[in-house]
Amino acid sequence: MHRRTFNKIISLLPLAGVSMNLGELGNLMAEQPSTATMPAMFVGHGNPMNAIEENEFTRGWRDAAAKIPTPAVIICISAHWETKGTLVTAMEKPKTIHDFGGFPRKLYEVQYPAPGSPEFAQTIKLTIKNHEIGLSQDWGLDHGCWSPIIKMYPDANIPIVQLSLDYGLDGSGHFELSKQLAAFRNNGALLIGSGNMVHNLGLVAWDKMNEPDFGFDWALEASAKMKKYISEKDFQSLINYRKQGRAFDLAINSAEHYLPMLYVLALMGKNEKSTFFNDKAQAGSLTMTSFVVI
Ligand code: ZN
Repeated sequence: MHRRTFNKIISLLPLAGVSMNLGELGNLMAEQPSTATMPAMFVGHGNPMNAIEENEFTRGWRDAAAKIPTPAVIICISAHWETKGTLVTAMEKPKTIHDFGGFPRKLYEVQYPAPGSPEFAQTIKLTIKNHEIGLSQDWGLDHGCWSPIIKMYPDANIPIVQLSLDYGLDGSGHFELSKQLAAFRNNGALLIGSGNMVHNLGLVAWDKMNEPDFGFDWALEASAKMKKYISEKDFQSLINYRKQGRAFDLAINSAEHYLPMLYVLALMGKNEKSTFFNDKAQAGSLTMTSFVVI
């Protein structure tokens, strides 16, 4: 769907009243030119410096974006926005948040001025049942969101809303919430989960930062199992990640970088599959593994 079409649809929403449900929204959208179902994507974002560097991972992100239709809007779930309850950014112009420390000044000067979409945020709020979604005017785009997306869509002309990770939800809660976003894929929305499937900063091998594809045994074991579960669509094992043994416990010592992946998998249709890219370990305890669901 062209962005103008999306904006036209969204502009009609206030006229339709806040009681409009997803079915009605779907009918409204169905009157517009048909559009293919958008893929969903998980990106391993890794080091914030990727935002200003050119390397195999940034090329992977760019290539992945180039292979899919241009989205009308992006819903981003980033590892770097955890909140009490689930929030969605609802401002017209989300600010670029530099939520990291100790990096070169050049990185702090990066701006990613993609527009927000208060109307789409409101639509998400109305769509999600059994879970209150709050509208945030305070957040913006954190580096989990803008550092890969600046490479994928450098013109910053696609509206983005960020959806936060609710501390209070378990794996199943995140998965079930995300399922309710699936219909937006038919209306030009690209969901991007941004984290790292294997992520344990406390165990990073700083002396091996520049050694290509270096992963500790437990990291490689966890990565292989995660990819196997994804390929087999064994989502229950991924949802119950705390029952998968030592390698998973080390790979997911805190879950915020892992959970965005569940949001992507929750949208996978019966006939869809995942295609991996950037499938490499880094500094022992991280993987940059990314995938597109299509
Ligand atoms: Zn991160």
